[in-house]
Amino acid sequence: MSQQKSIVIIGAGLAGLSAGCYAQTNGFKSQIFEHHTVPGGVAAAWKRQGYLIDGGIHFIMGHKPGTALYEIYKELGASDPSLYVDMASYGRFIQETEGIDLLVGMDLAQLAEDLKSLAPKDASIIDEVIQGARSMRGHDLSTVGMSQPPELTSPLSQFRELWQMRTVMKYFSGRYSRKICDFVKDVKTPWLRDFFCSLFLPESPAWFIMMVLALLADKQCAFLSRGCLDFVQSIEKHYKALGGETTYHATVDKILVEHDRAVGIRLTDGREYRADYVISACDSYSTIFGMLEGRYVNAKIKKRHETWETSRPFLSVSYGVNRRFSGEAPFWTIMLDDPVVVANETIRGLFIRILNYGDGFAPAGKSVLQAEIETSFAYWHDLQSKDRSAYDLEKQRVANEFLSRIEKYFPGLPSQVEVVDVATPYTTWRYTLNRNGAWGGWLMTADTIMKRIERRLPGLQHFYLAGQWVMSGGVPPSLYSGRHSIQLICHDEKKVFVNTAA
Ligand SMILES: Cc1cc2nc3c(=O)[nH]c(=O)nc-3n(C[C@H](O)[C@H](O)[C@H](O)COP(=O)(O)OP(=O)(O)OC[C@H]3O[C@@H](n4cnc5c(N)ncnc54)[C@H](O)[C@@H]3O)c2cc1C
Repeated sequence: MSQQKSIVIIGAGLAGLSAGCYAQTNGFKSQIFEHHTVPGGVAAAWKRQGYLIDGGIHFIMGHKPGTALYEIYKELGASDPSLYVDMASYGRFIQETEGIDLLVGMDLAQLAEDLKSLAPKDASIIDEVIQGARSMRGHDLSTVGMSQPPELTSPLSQFRELWQMRTVMKYFSGRYSRKICDFVKDVKTPWLRDFFCSLFLPESPAWFIMMVLALLADKQCAFLSRGCLDFVQSIEKHYKALGGETTYHATVDKILVEHDRAVGIRLTDGREYRADYVISACDSYSTIFGMLEGRYVNAKIKKRHETWETSRPFLSVSYGVNRRFSGEAPFWTIMLDDPVVVANETIRGLFIRILNYGDGFAPAGKSVLQAEIETSFAYWHDLQSKDRSAYDLEKQRVANEFLSRIEKYFPGLPSQVEVVDVATPYTTWRYTLNRNGAWGGWLMTADTIMKRIERRLPGLQHFYLAGQWVMSGGVPPSLYSGRHSIQLICHDEKKVFVNTAA
């Protein structure tokens, strides 16, 4: 009988856990080493005085049977319907200066009608976006191109995928692949540009926005009912049930290489662990240029790490409040009449999350409300390292400023606040070691989202990359990327890859 081969995985984020589950399913002996004390990576939630502060995943796609993604959740032990709450709306969009207050529901016809009645001069672009979303309905698009790693994708399988998408193909090229903000730049109604740009990231291609609207209309989007840690823990539980091992508070410093073959890892405390294969499911810059000292790169890899932008990090302020927000939409975008200056930037838009879709976020009768913005990593990192008390004071100031802007919607809110928690990009970096405190790998643009990044490094055997730095950020790509790393190992071992344990 052949001896069971071993795999060391760096990082217990979604990609590392996914790699671990498929490693076990395919008969390998795997061990995950994680820098933090808990699994999840950027999909993080933490307790504060009885409140659950969810600092991660806003919503999830493909939680219902009938999609490729649902099968992945099932394979990873995360398909229990109680983990999810169907989204009943995408949220509320408020433009204070113009007095716009719009609920973005799931019904595309209604959305088109509402938008056109408020912005009649822009009826044609509204119709175009909604028509794109309508055309994408019923297609399982959120995981297109993800079934296999680039190294194993044959021209025939690529053709098959393209063929399945033939009716919506026109949306994936030409003007629809422009940034949504550029796509709508000529609108005659200024707030409409803010509306479209804030539906996801302003750099996302227009087709991605159409796809999100289509998924919403198809009722394929959900909140995590008990927050992202619970989602993560269900995958970790599955991994352990399959026999996988985790070591927390274990930061990998070096990938051990002998004769151009990865043979294990060394932790910052000097402990070494050897294995037949190594998968890195964490920040690719520190993996390639730190743990591997930049010895296995080519021009493409160098260029990517030198020129691609990382996703802009978040600052989130969470308020534990002694009140309920029954009936309020869980997501709000508020374009402020009175902007706030944070990290030397003028912040016009606040993204608000009201975590009122599950009972686990707060004690009975209470809630968590969160305000989130994108901000500079360098500013918060430098402030923290130069002057810790100035950093704390600035966090407090920002929390007060945000609260003063939100109060008008919930009079008396400041007196109901029991807990304030501020997480900056420095916080994200501290707990994940992600470059620039990034929340989602590379900045999602039409270009980066379509790039197929190879999982092997040139000249290095028995080593694979996984996670949000080899696909775009987001739950589906991260889960798929973990699966890809095991598909590649199975391929190299001349084994047939299996999805579920025998
Ligand atoms: C606020 C927020 C909202 C989001 N919203 C959504 C959403 O609505 N929908 C969606 O699909 N996605 C969303 N995402 C993105 C999604 O959560 C991530 O893309 C995904 O979870 C990334 O998983 P990962 O495993 O690839 O990377 P990570 O989560 O970054 O995991 C990497 C892990 O490696 C560990 N690590 C790093 N260096 C080392 C080392 N040297 N040694 C040991 N361990 C190490 C880190 O601690 C971390 O645990 C959101 C993310 C954030 C932060």
